[in-house]
Amino acid sequence: SAADPSRLPNTAHLIVLSGPTAVGKGTVVNRLRRDHPDVWVSVSVTTRPPRPGEVDGVHYLFVDAAEFDRLIADGELLEWAVVHGVHRYGTPRQPVLDALAAGRSAILELDLQGARQVRQTWPEAHFVFLAPPTWEELLHRQAIRNTEDPAERERRLQTARQEMAAQDEFDQTIVNTEVGQAVADLVGLLGL
Ligand code: 5GP
Repeated sequence: SAADPSRLPNTAHLIVLSGPTAVGKGTVVNRLRRDHPDVWVSVSVTTRPPRPGEVDGVHYLFVDAAEFDRLIADGELLEWAVVHGVHRYGTPRQPVLDALAAGRSAILELDLQGARQVRQTWPEAHFVFLAPPTWEELLHRQAIRNTEDPAERERRLQTARQEMAAQDEFDQTIVNTEVGQAVADLVGLLGL
């Protein structure tokens, strides 16, 4: 089947990118998308409401709780998790299989729980941790992003502390000091 990694062209990688809140995962993925249109980027499904400027089907597939339940029940998600203790996020399975079957590398931006699930089901994937240069810089980036209320920010920092502590579980760490360099590091690492 298309899910059998041994039948994939050896140039197609499944890449899991994780890292704490506000480290710049979105920016890195957007730059990668722009400079390497051959890389396929998974669009997650979420029960979180859209932020201003977010487009359904582009940034996320925004669904209600009932639809998320259905996706789980029908086995349509490769992995899913409750992130930051509130909303559910998951990866639709079929598009990932289709991209890999077409010989395209696929990148999943997941939280730590999602990365751990993929590690179980797809151990040959590459697990990359995106780290901030310093904890202070992470706080600074979160503050200037200013997309969350104080309670939500604190929740996310709580998760971030746990995620930073799990860095050793990843195959590689890339320090996101500057986005162009981080993307170059990722591209070099993966031989894209
Ligand atoms: P945000 O609400 O800021 O868009 O995303 C919050 C967190 O959810 C991020 O750390 C992101 O990596 C994670 N996330 C996004 N999509 C998925 C997904 O499909 N599965 C999992 N497990 N985490 C996700």
